[in-house]
Amino acid sequence: MGTILFPQHVIARKRDGGELDRAEIEAFVAGATDGSWADYQLSALLMAIFLKGMTPRETGFLTEAMLRSGVVADLSSIKGPKADKHSTGGVGDKVSLHLAPMVASCGVIVPMISGRGLGHTGGTLDKLESIPGFRVGLSLPEYRSQLGRIGIALIGQTAELAPADRKLYALRDVTATVECIPLICASILSKKLAAGIDVLVLDVKFGRGAFMRDRARARELAVTITAVARAMGKPARALLTAMDEPLGHSVGNALEVAESIGCLKGKGARDLMEVTYAVGEQMLVLSGAAKDAAEARARLEASVASGAALGKFREMVSAQGGDASVADDPSRLPQAPQRKPVASPRSGFVTGVDALGVALAALHLGAGRTKAEDKIDHAVGIANLVKVGDAVKAGDPLCVIHAATDRAMAEAVEILAKATVIGDAAPRPAKLIDETIG
Ligand code: URA
Repeated sequence: MGTILFPQHVIARKRDGGELDRAEIEAFVAGATDGSWADYQLSALLMAIFLKGMTPRETGFLTEAMLRSGVVADLSSIKGPKADKHSTGGVGDKVSLHLAPMVASCGVIVPMISGRGLGHTGGTLDKLESIPGFRVGLSLPEYRSQLGRIGIALIGQTAELAPADRKLYALRDVTATVECIPLICASILSKKLAAGIDVLVLDVKFGRGAFMRDRARARELAVTITAVARAMGKPARALLTAMDEPLGHSVGNALEVAESIGCLKGKGARDLMEVTYAVGEQMLVLSGAAKDAAEARARLEASVASGAALGKFREMVSAQGGDASVADDPSRLPQAPQRKPVASPRSGFVTGVDALGVALAALHLGAGRTKAEDKIDHAVGIANLVKVGDAVKAGDPLCVIHAATDRAMAEAVEILAKATVIGDAAPRPAKLIDETIG
């Protein structure tokens, strides 16, 4: 019989800056999963980890233990490589909605477990739920069966997948221990690997609209996740991308679905498609479906040009109970009762669109949550946003606000007028994809 590990001894070791061994980390994760550690003990260790950090070895043990805290989906009976992507979250980041069908129509299986929006960034599940009837809560057998039939499924985390993460994430959220690289790494990877994937591509964002503003910290996260994933036998690559202005032209759930449908019809915004292709290329290359980025790019472009990617989107929406005719007629998506443009106060060039300001306006409109239990309004948000570098004349619309009430409209107009900056000269184009890691 093994030695009993008392929570207080494990906590004390980390408090004093020691390195925890596999057994101690497994005891902590088991304690979170089966309730044998009290919330105050779990929280104390989370804070000790936040303050003292973890070595790469400890982060690896933590990720493995959290992955094994529940079921790991076995997709071995489904032929073909399985690739997923994860974005650390940005404003207007709807890439998954159109990229997943693009990649799936190139013959790669896309088992995607996504999240909901919290705070200023949106979540893929909320966006998908703006499609009438769409079900994100498939059971694991339904998920496996759909992947076998059509090669794509976009679902939420089920109770069976990485249950330790659910418990620990909920505690981190209320104990100021979210922003900790080893904890973030284990949280993201345990969920993603539990879905049964072979390879993973990460889009790690930095800048004003990102979860991690600081580039150096975002880079550290990218290096940590790719190294831990590789050590667990899963090829992974991360792109470090700037998130200072929103991605694309719209922010808000149904509005972003409509924009993604546009991308599948070859009408995507330049910045949005730059990130889409960069992430998609890595998914195809890492999974062996293309020999290099150029071949991957050509295949992804062909999937849009031929209509195959849009067809795959329709298949996925109907398989998950949604109204696939939104692909042909996006006006079937929820519509807000009020629309109003925000006029440019002067002529010139757009020198800044503050992603955080736009996100706060969307939050005021009701498109996002400040608490996990908040209800969201799928119809509201901001569309037709100008991009940095655009030339505008006085009175031109800088965006169109979609609101549910007069009050929300007035608040959003005020925030958005401040979020967009007009200058005399066109700014120098900034780099969107800063570095590829792994
Ligand atoms: N997203 C996650 O899934 N987990 C974290 O810890 C942070 C962001």
